[in-house]
Amino acid sequence: MAASTTPAPSTSARAGAIGSARVTPGSLLRLIRTGAARSRADLVALTGAPRSTVSARVEQLLASQLVYEGGTGDSRGGRPPTLLAFNSKAGLVLAVDLGATSARVAVTDLSGEFLASESHELEISTGPDTVMEVVNALADGLLAELGSDPAHVSAVGVGVPGPVEFSTGRLVHPPLMSGWHDYLVPSAFARFECPVYVDNDVNVMAAGELGSGGGSENFLVVKIGTGIGCGIVVGGQIYRGAQGCAGDIGHIFVPHDPTVICRCGNENCLEAIAGGAALSRNAAAAGLDVHSVKDLVRLALQGEPPALELVRNAGRQVGGVLASLVNIFNPSRIVLVGSVAEAGNPLLAGIREVVYRRSLPLAARSLEITISDHGKVDGQLGAARLAIESLLDDERIDAELEAV
Ligand SMILES: [Zn+2]
Repeated sequence: MAASTTPAPSTSARAGAIGSARVTPGSLLRLIRTGAARSRADLVALTGAPRSTVSARVEQLLASQLVYEGGTGDSRGGRPPTLLAFNSKAGLVLAVDLGATSARVAVTDLSGEFLASESHELEISTGPDTVMEVVNALADGLLAELGSDPAHVSAVGVGVPGPVEFSTGRLVHPPLMSGWHDYLVPSAFARFECPVYVDNDVNVMAAGELGSGGGSENFLVVKIGTGIGCGIVVGGQIYRGAQGCAGDIGHIFVPHDPTVICRCGNENCLEAIAGGAALSRNAAAAGLDVHSVKDLVRLALQGEPPALELVRNAGRQVGGVLASLVNIFNPSRIVLVGSVAEAGNPLLAGIREVVYRRSLPLAARSLEITISDHGKVDGQLGAARLAIESLLDDERIDAELEAV
């Protein structure tokens, strides 16, 4: 019995060795670009690695031009340290946010700062050829405006309103995107000769919410619009699952009478009961002058009691599913986005009512549930962040610099 409770000394010795072996160029770059470290001395202090190891890694980063030396810091007795900074101008990022009725394209630097952006209204259901032609024309226009060209683009990030296999960027039966099934999104950007990262709109918004360098936060971004989906962030990383479809909570079964058949063919999916289409249908059936979910949200914002009750009920249904997610993932916060979320308080009230009642008390104690403030959780910024964090991922940087 004693053996199972006492850690073997060899294990802890090995863990120590792994700890210093993990001081790689990628991990140091992260410390520099998040602002955690501003000098070699900071890197030594933060990692506990020998100064010679840190210096060698920093030399690799300087040679890659991802880091530059500039100015000197405050002296702590000896020679003032040379400051290190992330070179956000080392490349450009093309960020593409495809919605059901719009294509938004931006060019950012490697810190996600917008240098130029443009959007165009078009129906995504016109198919990949037309949409990607427009996107590429917008990209060329923006690059020309910046006096740049495709050779300066280091990465492309794309958000799409449908299920996508993250490892390949292939669309898989996207319900809102007829003609796109099996389409390989990166193929449209082959001329840029750089990595192309494609993810569904909710994960892209989660990437935007994550911010620079990732951090270690646990949170959920829940989109309630025509469809319902969830971006799951665990320990600062987007959790995608084995095939990239983790978080597709719109098709979780919820008890409901009468039975409703979902567009996926199953019974009582959350989306078929609390999604935008279901809400506008229920509103019309209740005699409200409603043709779309926008109309219903407008009535709810005006305080119309039947509209408020419909939205609040949808919130309760979503809340039931979120209560389970809270028990599984124990997030610190949940951010709501999407056209139904624009209804605001009645939706929030319905969700909170069920989540706080049904989640484990410990998980619910400091859980924050909010509606996103506009502009913060943004698909375009998210697409940029997705590309930047994937491009500058520790392991990718290590492999790149190893290959030099
Ligand atoms: Zn379904």
